[in-house]
Amino acid sequence: MSGASTEAPFGERIDRALADTGLQRALGGTVGRLATARRDAFAALPEGDALRDAARAAKLGALASLDRHLEALARAVEANGGHVHWARDAAQARTIVIDIAHRAGAQTVVKSKSMATEEIALNPALEAAGLRVVETDLGEYIVQQAGEAPSHIIVPAIHKTRADVTDLFERVHGTDRKETAEALTAEARARLRQDFLGAEMGITGANFAIAATGSLVIVENEGNARLCSTLPRVHVAVMGMEKVVPDWPTVGTLLSLLARSATGQRMTSYVSVLGGPRGDDEVDGPEEFHLVLLDNGRSELLADPVLRESLACIRCGACLNACPVYGRIGGHAYGFAVPGPIGAVVAPTIQGTPDAAALPFASSLCGACRDVCPVRIDLPRMLLAQRARARRGDVSGLGRAERGLARMAARVLGSERRYRVATALLRGLTRGLSRFGPAQRLPGVAAWTGPRTLPEPAKEPFRRRWERDRG
Ligand code: SF4
Repeated sequence: MSGASTEAPFGERIDRALADTGLQRALGGTVGRLATARRDAFAALPEGDALRDAARAAKLGALASLDRHLEALARAVEANGGHVHWARDAAQARTIVIDIAHRAGAQTVVKSKSMATEEIALNPALEAAGLRVVETDLGEYIVQQAGEAPSHIIVPAIHKTRADVTDLFERVHGTDRKETAEALTAEARARLRQDFLGAEMGITGANFAIAATGSLVIVENEGNARLCSTLPRVHVAVMGMEKVVPDWPTVGTLLSLLARSATGQRMTSYVSVLGGPRGDDEVDGPEEFHLVLLDNGRSELLADPVLRESLACIRCGACLNACPVYGRIGGHAYGFAVPGPIGAVVAPTIQGTPDAAALPFASSLCGACRDVCPVRIDLPRMLLAQRARARRGDVSGLGRAERGLARMAARVLGSERRYRVATALLRGLTRGLSRFGPAQRLPGVAAWTGPRTLPEPAKEPFRRRWERDRG
């Protein structure tokens, strides 16, 4: 299908990220701060667990009747005066948006943050069609000026420090150096104002769409999505089809969790509810409204009993912030618009490349992602399922020695007798290895053993002590 392009194999991208000291510095601060903010927000919400249960039930319920909700949404949007477009895949979605832009005579397009448009690589397609595209979320604006892709679904420029942005703005804007976040923001804001006023078309995503009313709900902190959707003559919203929910009560439940999980806020600064094009008696809003409903592999996920619950994701980013792998390699190494555990689960289906099939292996399976997910998505279970599928195609990136060890471990763990014999042998072996330290240099698996310390095993195995103590 489509997604962010990858110019080097996943393993090389990981090595590059780990060696990038600037990236490590930038990630170290912000990822931890976001995770702490989320934890504090839920500590102050006694009904948090009950809300998470309700959110999960609501999203899974919506997915169970997705076809019905989508049809109702399309009817409601059209009744409100909007146009609905169904996009089978990324290429079709890009064509739809470009056609709308050409028909509108658009030259400049202002955009707010949208993972769906990143997923379909919309910006390069619009630019190739002769349009000027301006990202208006501050983080997205920064990465666009740097010629990069976003590296986090909530904080697109998480990989950059303030000093990086100072250097970048000085270079691309040709202005005096601005040393504070406030001054940098003001500089971007002054430039973006002109683009909001001049653009003929605005593109947004959507956090939720309400089937009963045809309304789109967009949450944000900067107000730029509100400007993108109301100032230009034409507004296009590109939305994954799983974002439709039946009614307002469902949105209420999800909204109470989204900002807390994402940034630790009780509510974002702006929650916009869009009802379609401007009515005759209204003073603002677009003259034309188009909703592009994107499939791009989602039907496949929906039909897959193992992966279906991944569509319950509300794109809060909490699993990224909790993931020890994301916290070290950042988003670009994944090579997919949505990085982290949820990206690693859905990328093999949505992107459909051998490179994407390797992503589920970038996980320690510690379960931290499942613990923080507001809709309790069982990400480790699905990562394991995707690994098993990838292994059939042998795209795991494991070396021959690691594959041999994994096969041997499977045989040993499959029989109690073999397990007892093997652990007795291993105890003697590891005692010797840990004493003299050569485990760090075992041929073929040094990349795995090198950074790990091999502890000296206990003199008496736990099983024997357990049996003896029980009498
Ligand atoms: S999987 Fe859960 S934690 Fe991760 S982005 Fe989606 S909703 Fe948030």
